Amino acid sequence: MKTVSVMHGQPYDVVIVGSGPSGATYARILHEEAPQLRVLMVEAGPLLSEQAGLHVKNLADPQARAAAQLASQGPVTSLSPESATPGPGRPGTFLLRRDEFAPNAGMPAAAMSSNVGGMGAHWTCACPRPGASERITFLDDDLLDAAFLEAERLLSVTSEAFEDAPFAAEVRRRLDGEFQRRGPAAIQPMPLAVQKHPDGTVTWSGTDVVLGPLGAAETRGDRFELRDHTLCQRVVHDDGHVTGAELKDLTTGAVSIVNAPVVVVAADALRTPQLLFASGIRPRALGRYLNDQPQVISAVRLPPDVVEATTVGAARNSGVSWVPYTDEEPFHGQVMQLDASPIPLAEDDNVVPGSIIGLGWFCATETVEENRVEFDENPDHYGMPRMSIHYNLTWKDLRVIDEAKEAVTRAGKALGTFLDDRPPFLLPAGSSLHYQGSVRMGQHDDGRSVCGPDSQVWGTAGLYVAGNGVIPTSTACNPTLTSVALAVLGARSIVDRIQ
Ligand code: FAD
Repeated sequence: MKTVSVMHGQPYDVVIVGSGPSGATYARILHEEAPQLRVLMVEAGPLLSEQAGLHVKNLADPQARAAAQLASQGPVTSLSPESATPGPGRPGTFLLRRDEFAPNAGMPAAAMSSNVGGMGAHWTCACPRPGASERITFLDDDLLDAAFLEAERLLSVTSEAFEDAPFAAEVRRRLDGEFQRRGPAAIQPMPLAVQKHPDGTVTWSGTDVVLGPLGAAETRGDRFELRDHTLCQRVVHDDGHVTGAELKDLTTGAVSIVNAPVVVVAADALRTPQLLFASGIRPRALGRYLNDQPQVISAVRLPPDVVEATTVGAARNSGVSWVPYTDEEPFHGQVMQLDASPIPLAEDDNVVPGSIIGLGWFCATETVEENRVEFDENPDHYGMPRMSIHYNLTWKDLRVIDEAKEAVTRAGKALGTFLDDRPPFLLPAGSSLHYQGSVRMGQHDDGRSVCGPDSQVWGTAGLYVAGNGVIPTSTACNPTLTSVALAVLGARSIVDRIQ
């Protein structure tokens, strides 16, 4: 029998579940705008470094980096590298697909990370704003733009990190010649969450950058507490109001309840609906409208004359360029130096850094209610309700993917020669790591959304959801900036509510 110890009184004002960029945004905004609040953040995975949420790419020692990635790969794969799930996967993430834990994983590459900082300790840092119909139209335009600005501040986003990269200008000149885009959808440097230093080096923004002073024990103060290895297994609520959270210490197995009038669930797009389901909060739209961004990829080699023309000794770099989304071409292109990307490069000793260019086109798909993550009463490896994913593309999605393949072919031909004979190809569903819609935001409680414009769950006062699952629109752009912007709005609504 499970023993639950109840911590009496009201020790916390807000409990945040999940320590990725979305949860960190709540913590940071509450710290800045309501510093008197006592906030507890719980994270199922381990702390990877002293600086909470540090991007593992910033760890100089390759062995330390590999160990941090492995430790993020969940309770099964992090135990030993041999037990890692076969199939596609990125370092620092683990696949949902393990027969005993997810018997119907309709997205074979669906993955997650479990560590302080979440996927924000492993990501590529591309932070484009959504454009055209990717934007959420029921939110006031000025309010949304102000939230994007704030999100860019929190993530330290800049378009200038690689502005002097010699290959980058050439890459953009060639793409511009091919696509002839003008206005906001023009070919441009990809906004990236990085800090550039005077010596030309860059630091990639991990979740520590969002946490700011809360990232380090010395500057954290006594109003914010971060507990790693701590699973929230239930949001406690009574009569339509949140009263606290049931927590399990994964190192000792001890279960306790902490009281709090506000709980923010920022546990990624698959595990946020899982926790609501486990808590008996099951609005009709929970887990539905699950949306992935089909990803078409290829790689090219820049022509030798371009590579040779670059001053020897200059930092040879192609940075990251962006072919923005338009409603006519509902995909967006991320064109990046492959040795800076998480996709491994074929062994080739003669590669000039920056001269191999990865082309990754993310497609927008229709938001379909039947595409969903479902839960049953069997336990997964954390003891939480087991997931099944049901996911199919529509005719329109298939057409968009074909158009994206054509666009990648055009881009590749404009840039150089393809690395191999394969035409641009579609990665398995889930590879984008950009899952959305599973706890989607809506303007009204009409059964098609889980939360309102302030991210508060319909019918459960004090319960907020955060992360990519909240995004209701069909988007192709990388989602983290949008999730952080929506979290800014949610956090401010908590400040208004509590003060
Ligand atoms: P996460 O960062 O996933 O964090 C959720 C956390 O919640 C996890 O640490 C998890 O352990 C914890 N958790 C889950 N359940 C519980 C529970 N019950 N109790 C306690 N804790 C729990 N996005 C972009 O926008 N641009 C990019 O360029 C980009 N590149 C990427 C490249 C890679 C290799 C990866 C892995 C991801 C990339 N992403 C990118 C995705 C991006 O990292 C995510 O969008 C972002 O991290 C989502 O933030 P989040 O806080 O919502 O969730």
